[in-house]
Amino acid sequence: MRVLKSSHLSCGPEVLKFELAFAKYVGVKHAVAVSSGTSGLHLGLRALGIGEGDLVITTPFSFVASANCLLFERAQPVFADIDRTTYNIDPAKIEAAIFGLPAGKRKKLKAILAVDVFGRSADWYALGAIAKKHGLKLIEDSCEALGTTYRGKKCGCLGDFGVFGFYPNKQITTGEGGMITTNSRALSDACRSMRNQGRVPGGGLEVSRLGYNYRMDEMSAALGFVQLKRLPELLEKRARVAKWYSIALRQAQCDKIRPHSDDSWFVYTIEVAHRDRVVAYLRKNGIECNNYFPAIHLQPMYMKMGYRKGDFPVCELVSSRTLALPFHPNLTYREVRHVVTILQKALS
Ligand SMILES: *Cc1c(COP(=O)(O)O)cnc(C)c1O
Repeated sequence: MRVLKSSHLSCGPEVLKFELAFAKYVGVKHAVAVSSGTSGLHLGLRALGIGEGDLVITTPFSFVASANCLLFERAQPVFADIDRTTYNIDPAKIEAAIFGLPAGKRKKLKAILAVDVFGRSADWYALGAIAKKHGLKLIEDSCEALGTTYRGKKCGCLGDFGVFGFYPNKQITTGEGGMITTNSRALSDACRSMRNQGRVPGGGLEVSRLGYNYRMDEMSAALGFVQLKRLPELLEKRARVAKWYSIALRQAQCDKIRPHSDDSWFVYTIEVAHRDRVVAYLRKNGIECNNYFPAIHLQPMYMKMGYRKGDFPVCELVSSRTLALPFHPNLTYREVRHVVTILQKALS
C-alpha cells in the first residue's frame, strides 16, 4: 500500500532495495531484477554475446524457457541427456555430446546452460571442469532452486550468471518477476541497460544498445523484498509438507516413489508406471496434478527442428513416469493424507 500511495510505481527505490537484499542472500556482488525468469535468461545470454549460430549445451528435462531463450537469439541448443537419479544434466553425456560434434561445429560451442531441476543442484563441480577444459561459459538456471546450497554456496552463484523466477509456483513470488545474479560488473551493467531499452544507466534517454522493456515494477519488488524475508519460513513449510508426503507414501507402500530431498523443495514429484492413467484418475477425483516435465525435445515445435523420440532416452523415461502432486506451503497434513489415499487407489 505504501508503494501504491507513493509517486513511483516503476523505476523507484523498491527495485534497488530488493536487488541488494537478494544479492546478499545468494552471495553475489550484483543482482538485476527483471520482469520474469525467462527475460532474465534472455538478457544474460545477450550479455555473454551468445548469438546466431552459436551452440549451447543444455538439458532436455526442464521448463521449456531454458531452451527457448537460446532460440530467441538464434543460438542452437545441443541437448545432453540427464542423470537417472538426480534428473539433472549428466556431465558424462555432455562430454559425449561435445565429442560427437564435427570439429567445425565444436568451434561454435559457447556455453553450458544447466538447470537446478526441482530445487536440486546440478553437479557444478563437474560442469565447471568441463567448461574450463573447453573454454565455455557457464549459465545457471536456478529458477527452481532459491535457497538450495551446493558445497556451502547458494545456487545462483555457481556459473557466470544465475537466474531466478518469481512466478507463483516458485519458492517466493512477485506475481511475475525474475532476478539475474552475477559477480561480473560488466554483465550486470549490460543487463541493467538492456532491461530498460538499452539506455545508459543514469544517462537519460540515450540508447547505447538494443534493449527491451524487461523491467520489474515497484509493487512486485516490494512484494519480493517481503517474500525474501519470509523465505526461511516458506522453505520450512515446504519441507514439512514434503516430509508428510514421504511418510504417507511410505506407509501406503507406494514403492515406485523416488524421493528427492533438498534444502529447498520446488515440487513434490513421484514416478509411476502408467502415469497418464494415474493422472487422469487423480484429476477425476478432484486432485490437481500434472505430468512434469514433458521432454523439451519432444514438444511439437522442437520436433519440427528435427528432434525425435529416442534421442534422449533417460529424459524420455523420466518424463514419461514423473507426476507432480499438489504442493504448496499451506497444504495441511489432512490434505496430504487425502491425496495419498486417492493415489493409492489409482495405483491399485
Ligand atoms: C519457472 C522457470 C523458468 C522461467 O521463469 P518465468 O518467470 O516463468 O519466466 C525458467 N526455467 C525454469 C527451470 C523454471 O522452472
